[in-house]
Amino acid sequence: MNVSVILFTADLRLHDHPPLRAALDGSRQVVPLFVRDPAVDRAGFAAPNRLAFLADCLRDLDTGLRERGGRLVVRSGDVVEQVLKVVAEADADEVHLAADVSAHARHRETRLRRVLEEQGVRLHVHDTVTTAVPPGALSPAASDHFAVFTPYFRQWSREPIRDTLAAPRAVPVPDGVGSEPLPSRTAVTGLSDGLAPGGEQAGRSRLTAWLRDGITAYEDRHDDLAGDATSRLSPHLHFGTLSPVELVNRARRAGGGAGAEAFVRQLAWRDFHRQVLAARPEAASVDYRTRNDRWRSVPDEVEAWREGRTGYPVVDAAMRQLRHEGWMHNRGRLLTASFLTKTLYVDWRVGARHFLDLLVDGDVANNQLNWQWMAGTGTDSRPNRVLNPVTQAKRYDPDGTYVRRWVPELAHVEGPGVHEPWKLRGLDRAATDYPEPIVELSEGRARFLRGRGMAV
Ligand SMILES: Cc1cc2nc3c(=O)[nH]c(=O)nc-3n(C[C@H](O)[C@H](O)[C@H](O)COP(=O)(O)OP(=O)(O)OC[C@H]3O[C@@H](n4cnc5c(N)ncnc54)[C@H](O)[C@@H]3O)c2cc1C
Repeated sequence: MNVSVILFTADLRLHDHPPLRAALDGSRQVVPLFVRDPAVDRAGFAAPNRLAFLADCLRDLDTGLRERGGRLVVRSGDVVEQVLKVVAEADADEVHLAADVSAHARHRETRLRRVLEEQGVRLHVHDTVTTAVPPGALSPAASDHFAVFTPYFRQWSREPIRDTLAAPRAVPVPDGVGSEPLPSRTAVTGLSDGLAPGGEQAGRSRLTAWLRDGITAYEDRHDDLAGDATSRLSPHLHFGTLSPVELVNRARRAGGGAGAEAFVRQLAWRDFHRQVLAARPEAASVDYRTRNDRWRSVPDEVEAWREGRTGYPVVDAAMRQLRHEGWMHNRGRLLTASFLTKTLYVDWRVGARHFLDLLVDGDVANNQLNWQWMAGTGTDSRPNRVLNPVTQAKRYDPDGTYVRRWVPELAHVEGPGVHEPWKLRGLDRAATDYPEPIVELSEGRARFLRGRGMAV
């Protein structure tokens, strides 16, 4: 019988999996392979929260495969060398892989193609596994990619989305291809206490609950910091335990409505950043549009920001949520990124690195390009806007519940007064060792605008 190797990467699922479907439709045996490549660790992407979530995902994928008569093969080492070894051991004549956009992913694909061709083995690279619309499928008249979201979204919305594929009933795996033991979450140290569980099963349960209970109110509630009313599906999209195609199809089937539309729009943002990164891989580390910034080097202020001790409660609450859960609400990401890059005028790469060290959904395209967007070096058409954390707090955490949840030093302060502790009097003030603000907001704003050559 002919054998295909399926190289799993950021697509750790059995539902809606075009590579698996393509191989099984040809009545082939398959070797489901995952390679732990030290090159990924060396590039700084092996953060404990993501390693633990990954361990859950691999275990769950193995369980799902075993229920279908198969199993997962895990190997460590250079991905290309390991694929070649497994191809030889299984006597495979083709390899399937999901298309992806990072420089690492594209380099992997190029190397694989070259060495497999030399061996007479076909490489099949599948679109619409890690995105709903392939990067490069849409482009404006005069460029290779969209640099502005709104026209991108207009075209994206008209693009046909393929049907969702069912999970296979059986996955026949040939004998004689050994696996290393699966990694385990308990072996990972330095995790966030509140880290969510990984794996396709966990992702599908969350998706079902989201479509039933959350999506309808998404448009109205997505910015409510305390309400926590977003899907929290980002880690599952990052590891591919859920498929973006399935999410778009199911959200649309959920009856449309403003909530479903707003949710689908966010999925389009994800595709948008991926098509930018596909066209400009260097944007992972270089300004997409330079503003000639002379960023400040202020280690003490950066440390206060990282630790959630800036003296601005909503900034500190969000930074502490990040450390505790390995996840942060989108509104928190926006205002903490604005605070670092604009109010403190610190290089976006410093903030992006810290986020990547902790975020379970930490993702080159979404993280680096959202940081660039907020720093005004990316695709934002209003690059010099500065978010005022007090105004943001009063709008998105109007009675202060989010701040009290994450900043225990202020848990005794009732109501919105918690957002401006420097105004507290008497016992409220005496009862807290919460720090004074590390910067005056108007001074920070003026410094940033001067740095950008703008009138203050
Ligand atoms: C500074 C900064 C850094 C970020 N870093 C990351 C990151 O590393 N990984 C990541 O997945 N997202 C990142 N985001 C985008 C966004 O904050 C998260 O995707 C979102 O908060 C995840 O929560 P959710 O799944 O509940 O989102 P929901 O609001 O339920 O949205 C559904 C999905 O849409 C996608 N999405 C939502 N907002 C965006 C956006 N602005 N850009 C791209 N895709 C989006 C995500 O895949 C998300 O899971 C970042 C945003 C900012 C401002």
